[in-house]
Amino acid sequence: MIDERKTAAPMTSRQRVLAALRREPVDRTPVCNPTSVATVELMDLVDAHFPDANRNAEKMARLAATSYTELGFDSIMPVFTIIQESSALGCKIQWEEKDNWPTVRMGEPIWSGLEDIRIPDDLLTHPDTRCVLDAIGILRKRFGDDVAIIGKTMGPWSLGYHCFGVEKFLLMSLDDPAETMRCLDKMKEATIRFGRAQIEAGADALTLPDHATGDLVSGEYYARFLQEMHTEFVDQIPIPLILHICGRTEDRMDYIAQTGMAAFHYDSKNNPQASMDIVGGRIALVGNINNPETLYSKGPEVVRQEVYKNLDAGVPLVGPECAIPLQTPIESLKEIPLAVRDWRKEHAATN
Ligand SMILES: [Zn+2]
Repeated sequence: MIDERKTAAPMTSRQRVLAALRREPVDRTPVCNPTSVATVELMDLVDAHFPDANRNAEKMARLAATSYTELGFDSIMPVFTIIQESSALGCKIQWEEKDNWPTVRMGEPIWSGLEDIRIPDDLLTHPDTRCVLDAIGILRKRFGDDVAIIGKTMGPWSLGYHCFGVEKFLLMSLDDPAETMRCLDKMKEATIRFGRAQIEAGADALTLPDHATGDLVSGEYYARFLQEMHTEFVDQIPIPLILHICGRTEDRMDYIAQTGMAAFHYDSKNNPQASMDIVGGRIALVGNINNPETLYSKGPEVVRQEVYKNLDAGVPLVGPECAIPLQTPIESLKEIPLAVRDWRKEHAATN
C-alpha cells in the first residue's frame, strides 16, 4: 500500500521516473532500464524481431513498449543497439539475426585520423537514425504522458571505437592525447545533434553511453578526456541525461557526479552503498541488477535480493545494469517491479 498520508494519488510512471532523475520524492522507486530490455521471448510476443526491430520504426516501438506493457517497468527505451548513428556515420554494420546483437564490422574502420572525421549532412535523415526518431514519436503518441520515454545518443568515446576501431583509438589516446581530444571534440557534434533531435521527437530523457569502461581505461582517463565534455553535454542537450559506462567505475564516480548529468547507469561490479556514498546526492544512480548471471540464469529469488540491496542503499532508480542478454527469461525481469512494490510495502508498514 502506498502511504496515503504522503501521497494523495499514485504517480504515473513518467512522473515517477522524472522525479527520481531530479532526485525528488517518489511514491515508490521507479524501475527503469536506460539501455535495452529486448529479449527473444518479447520479440516473439509482439512479432517484432531483430534485425527489423532495429531498422523499422513501428517494430522498434512495438518491441520497446513491452518494457511497460509486459514487464511493468516505468520507462520505455526503443534504442536497443549502440550502432544506429555509427551506421549513419558510414560504418559497415553486421545486422545479424533475431538472436544476436548487430555490431560494427571492426575490420573495416572508416577513419584513421582527425582529418577523416566528417559528420554527414544526412545524420538525422539516414534510415537508421530516422527510425529512432520515428519510434520515439510513435511511442509518445501511443502512451501520452503515462510512461517515461528514454532515447539514446552515443558519446564521442564510443563513436571513436566504432569509427577508428577500438585498438587504434585506445592507442591514439596513449600516443597523442591532444590529437585524441581534437577527435573527440569533432565527433561530439554527432552526439549533440542526435540527442537534440530525439528531444524534438518527444523523448523525456536520454541515455548517453560513452564506453570509457572499467576494464579498458582508468578513472584518470575519464577525468582527462571526458569529464569536461560530459559537463558540456548537460548544457548542449537540454534534457535529463543518463550516463552509461559498463564495468567497475567507482574510481570515476566522483568525476561523473560533478558533470551535472541527471543519473549514472551503473554496473553490478560496483557496490550499491559504496557507490551512493561516493556520488553523495549529486547525481542519481540507476541499476545495478546483474545481467549475465542473475537475470539470465539465477531466477527471481536472487533478482529480488539484488533489488533489495539497491533499495536499502537508497538507489533512486532500479533496473538491469546494461542491455540484457537476449535470452533472459521474462519471469526474472518481472520480478524487479514486484520486488520494488514488496519492499515499499514492508517499509510503509514499519514506518
Ligand atoms: Zn553497458
